[in-house]
Amino acid sequence: MTRIDVMRPWLGAEEIAAVTAALESGWIAQGPRVAEFEKAFASRMGVEHAVAVSSCTTGLHLALVVAGIGPGDDVVVPSFSFIATANAVRYVGARPVFADVDRITGNIDADTVKTVLTPNTRAVIAVDQGGVPVGLDDLRRVTDPLGIVLIEDAACGAGANYRGRPVGVGSDIAAWSFHPRKILTTGEGGMVTTDRATWADRARALREHATSKSAASRHQDTLPAAESYTEVAYNYRMTDLQAAVGLVQLGRLDEVVARRRELAAKYRAALESVPGLRCVADPDDGEGNFQSFWVEVGPDAAHTRDGYLRELASRDISARRGIMATHLQPAYAGSDAVVGDLTVTEHLTSSTLILPLFHAMSENDHGRVVEVMASRS
Ligand SMILES: *Cc1c(COP(=O)(O)O)cnc(C)c1O
Repeated sequence: MTRIDVMRPWLGAEEIAAVTAALESGWIAQGPRVAEFEKAFASRMGVEHAVAVSSCTTGLHLALVVAGIGPGDDVVVPSFSFIATANAVRYVGARPVFADVDRITGNIDADTVKTVLTPNTRAVIAVDQGGVPVGLDDLRRVTDPLGIVLIEDAACGAGANYRGRPVGVGSDIAAWSFHPRKILTTGEGGMVTTDRATWADRARALREHATSKSAASRHQDTLPAAESYTEVAYNYRMTDLQAAVGLVQLGRLDEVVARRRELAAKYRAALESVPGLRCVADPDDGEGNFQSFWVEVGPDAAHTRDGYLRELASRDISARRGIMATHLQPAYAGSDAVVGDLTVTEHLTSSTLILPLFHAMSENDHGRVVEVMASRS
C-alpha cells in the first residue's frame, strides 16, 4: 500500500525544460520571464495589471501599503484562514478585526462583516477560502458606501470563478499564492492584481526597494545608471526561474481545475449519503477549484473528526485538520486584534478535515479514501 498525500503538485518535463532554458539564458533573478508571466496572468485572470512577488504573504503586505492602510486603521479579516491573512494587517501596524464565516461556504459575508465594522474600518480582506469563491457583490454593498477598500486574498483562488469571471476581478486589489499547496505553483511565489494603474506601479516599485531603475532596465544601459530610492521598501521579487515554471503551470490551469472538479464530484457522490458528513460544494454564484476538499463531521458520523484522521492515517492516507482559526493561535494571544463572536469559525475549525485531492490521483487511491470515509465502523 503506497502513501496517499493530501496534495501533490503536478509538474512535468515542460517545467524542467522551462527552468533549464531560464538557467541557460543567464537571467535567473527577476527579468523577462517575470514580465511575461505577469502579462499572461493578467490576461488569464481578466485584470489590467499583475505584479509578481515572492509570495502571497508579501503580496498582501504590498496590497495594504498601496491601499494606504496603516496605524490607527482597522481591517476586517476572517480568523478562519491561514495566519498570513491577519499577519499582513499587523505588518502595516493596523488592527485586525476578525469576522465570522458562513458555515456552508467557510467565507465571510455581508452579515458577518457588518456586525464587526468600527468607525476606523478602512479595509476588508475577503478570502476565497480553500478555493470557494467569496461573495464579493454582497460585500461591496457594505464596503462601497463607506469607502472601505476591498482586498481579496485569492491565495487559493486560481481557476475559481465568481459570477462567470475569475475570482479577483471584483475586488480593488487581490493577492495570489503559488506555494506547492496551491493549484498553480512556482515553488514559492505570488502575484498582486488590480485594475488601478497607480496601485500597480507603486507595488512594482515597492517590491524592488522603490528604486527608480529596475534591474531589468539597468541591464539595458551601457553607462552605469544613477538610480535613486524614493522610499523605504522591500525585496519581494520573484525570480525568472520561478516565472518560467509559472508560465507552464498557467497553461495547465484549466486542465488541473477540470480534473479537481471531477474528483471532487466523485467524492461528493460517494459521501453525500453517509450520515453525519457534509462536503464542501460550489456556492450559488460561483464555481470553486476545490483546492481544499473539506468535509464537516457531524454528531451522526461513525467517528469524530480526529477519529477519521486516525482511521485515514492508519491506512497510510494523509489528511489534514480543517482550516485554522487564527484568533486561537499563540501569536494572537494578548494582541490588539478584535475577537468577537466567532462561533462558526470555532465550530468549523474543530469539526472539518481536508481529504487528499491532486491532479495525478488515481481512481484506486480515490477509492481507498472513500472506503474509510464511508465505512460505518
Ligand atoms: C497559502 C495562503 C496564504 C499564504 O500564501 P504564501 O504564498 O505561502 O505566502 C495566504 N492566505 C491564504 C488564504 C492561504 O491559503
